[in-house]
Amino acid sequence: MLHNDQLEQWDRENFFHPSTHLAEFARGNLPQRVITGGSGCHIEDRDGNRLLDGFAGLYCVNVGYGRAEIAEAIAEQARELAYYHAYVGHGTEASITLSKMILDRAPDHMSKVYFGLSGSDANETNIKLVWYYNNVKGRPKKKKIISRWRGYHGSGLMTGSLTGLEVFHKKFDLPLTQVIHTEAPYYFRRADRAQSEAAFVAHCVAELEALIDREGADTIAAFIGEPALGTGGIVPPPEGYWPAIQAVLQKHDILLIADEVVTGFGRLGSMFGSEHYGIRPDIITIAKGLTSAYAPLSGSIVSEGVWKVLEEGTDRFGPIGHGWTYSAHPIGAAAGVANLKLLDELDLVSNAGAVGAYFKQGLIDALGDHPHVGEIRGEGLLCAVEFVEDRDSRRYFDPTRGIGAALNGALLRRGVISRAMPQGDILGFAPPFCLTRAEADEITGKLAESVKEVLG
Ligand code: PLP
Repeated sequence: MLHNDQLEQWDRENFFHPSTHLAEFARGNLPQRVITGGSGCHIEDRDGNRLLDGFAGLYCVNVGYGRAEIAEAIAEQARELAYYHAYVGHGTEASITLSKMILDRAPDHMSKVYFGLSGSDANETNIKLVWYYNNVKGRPKKKKIISRWRGYHGSGLMTGSLTGLEVFHKKFDLPLTQVIHTEAPYYFRRADRAQSEAAFVAHCVAELEALIDREGADTIAAFIGEPALGTGGIVPPPEGYWPAIQAVLQKHDILLIADEVVTGFGRLGSMFGSEHYGIRPDIITIAKGLTSAYAPLSGSIVSEGVWKVLEEGTDRFGPIGHGWTYSAHPIGAAAGVANLKLLDELDLVSNAGAVGAYFKQGLIDALGDHPHVGEIRGEGLLCAVEFVEDRDSRRYFDPTRGIGAALNGALLRRGVISRAMPQGDILGFAPPFCLTRAEADEITGKLAESVKEVLG
């Protein structure tokens, strides 16, 4: 481990941090934290703090920190063969094995995996595949993509456009014109308070239908959505949402991309969110939980129906012109194989379901009646507490008060990491799947103290 007294200064002078107020950081007005180690659900920093990571990094270290089995697999792969590419039929034992393991776990109608490095590049791949698909099918106009407000699909040019959060568009000249957004399935924030859940679903469907009518179904290629909204506020869909949306997409021959970067490999207590909500996607995006972030790796799982068209395309037009140097990187693939084995051996997906339900109930018992708690929601080990100024009207706090950030800070001072979600005063929790009931209680107890400190 590097110990260097100038590390803090070097950090401020040289390191361009993502999603950071750059000027404040450079001026020294934002704190910095140098992480040095981790084990189970905890990380340590170089000042000697040990923190309970209630967000598993960026909801990705699903099997927990410090897993020697994955570290060994990575080291062994690096010693044996650190790199070879996957172009024109090349592979490694790790990448071929991992594609089989993914397909064994994915819904039955899925057929092949294309590997990338991040959730963002996997979604870029998906959009290219969808465009290619429609060109092969002789439908050159069918290219627009529907995404949802509050959806999160990455930070690239296309994926940042798919993302439905203003902060990812502002001053970047996004979204691109091929992307159109529709209503978020966010029942708590419905405009009409009197609306039942079923009526709200009907409203989301009607909004989608109206959008398709306005644009013309022959111009729309695909719909992309996370099974449960993640970065947009951690919002599980209302009952019946996905079957109703899917029926509309099928009617108009619009492909469905399920972005399972967060939900894939167990976070909801089911292997895939698609399985959890009865979704039948044409393409599934995977990343984070594929390797539990021990190495960067993502994937696009395509259905047999899409695959057949891609095959036809290469018969007619030659090899597909899409590839990354690091597609199916052997070290990432070795990490993925070891990670998925561990997930099974330790039965971590079941644990995510059982401890997740226990955790949510604990939050409801501790905070459900608080006058500034608007909603406690979640599924498995993905949950959130939304804070409001006024519970009856669901009025937001004045954003300049920074309530979410203040709560996040108060909790951090007590040794627990949560995430202040980017839009609204929402604290998100997505801990590693090895979370114990005692650790869940610790998060809940310290959150209750933090809420008392910040909101009374
Ligand atoms: N899709 C979803 C649902 C995500 O939550 C994320 C990242 O949080 C991404 C895509 C983008 O992944 P990455 O940050 O690896 O590019």
